[in-house]
Amino acid sequence: MTTDQWGVRVPTGKGEEVRQALLREGALDLTLKVLHDGDALVFPVLSERGDTSRYSFAEQPDCTVLPRHELVGGIAIMQEDDPVGAAAILASRPSLHTVLFPTSEVSGEFRTREYVVLAGTDTTRTEVVEHGHRFAVDLAGAYFSARLSTERQRLAEKTREHELVLDMFAGVGPFAITLAPRAALVVAADLNPRAVLLLIENMKKNRATNVLPLLADARRLDAILPWKFDRIVMNLPLAGTEFLPEAFRLVRPGGTIHFYSLVSKEGEHLGRIRELGGVEVTERVVRSYSPGQWHAVYDIVAE
Ligand code: SAM
Repeated sequence: MTTDQWGVRVPTGKGEEVRQALLREGALDLTLKVLHDGDALVFPVLSERGDTSRYSFAEQPDCTVLPRHELVGGIAIMQEDDPVGAAAILASRPSLHTVLFPTSEVSGEFRTREYVVLAGTDTTRTEVVEHGHRFAVDLAGAYFSARLSTERQRLAEKTREHELVLDMFAGVGPFAITLAPRAALVVAADLNPRAVLLLIENMKKNRATNVLPLLADARRLDAILPWKFDRIVMNLPLAGTEFLPEAFRLVRPGGTIHFYSLVSKEGEHLGRIRELGGVEVTERVVRSYSPGQWHAVYDIVAE
């Protein structure tokens, strides 16, 4: 029997290192067999990430198939309100402490959702390990998604040590803290007080001494901050282009804006970006969102 699942493809030589990392993160789908594909291995994982594609995997013999769920640190989030399935998921991995079911969509300015606890400890808090960084998250209190982990690594690799970086929608700090070791200073702003408290906790956890946390509306940053920035991260995909003028006021000439947006056609925001002063613009698909819609990132060099 085969099953379609998300898979991470790596060269065989890196297989054991990646397998260990996926096991530590609780991301490996233990019900499926690893796929051998030429000189690469494909590991089945429980949820979509930046580096995943769909593959067909053989099932592990004698392995109980668990209901569909996504892992965030020690929490499993189910797609069905299924307490029996939740108990089976909880028992399947020692690293899990809680199984949740969402009772609302991601909503509001803070981009949070509500949950009920189906099994385990009565909490929405957990710790996520991502590429050597540890993030305290509270799924009901502040937005967090592991799906942009590859994007965070991509931006970190572009960052240079003299750079002044601004994260306009920082949440609990995954972009800010990932970029901090490569930058001179990262200013990390968010409107949600709970997110900023978790960001401060995460700065301490990761010894990120060059991150400046800010409880602020992104619309007011140009009025508050005395600097022009070398690099600006804008991850509020549903907002469209409304915050872009503020980013262009805050970027230094020749600086870069990484603008994440939900789009339904290629080049959707190119006109507006050029109008505002984007001289070099690259658009890439980050992940699919729904049929006909996807998350894109525009890397914009300002004039
Ligand atoms: N960058 C973080 C991440 O990748 O996990 C969080 C991204 S989340 C999609 C967007 C964040 O923007 C939320 O934490 C929300 O509270 C914050 N936000 C929404 N409107 C804002 C505004 N006007 N000013 C500052 N932050 C805002």
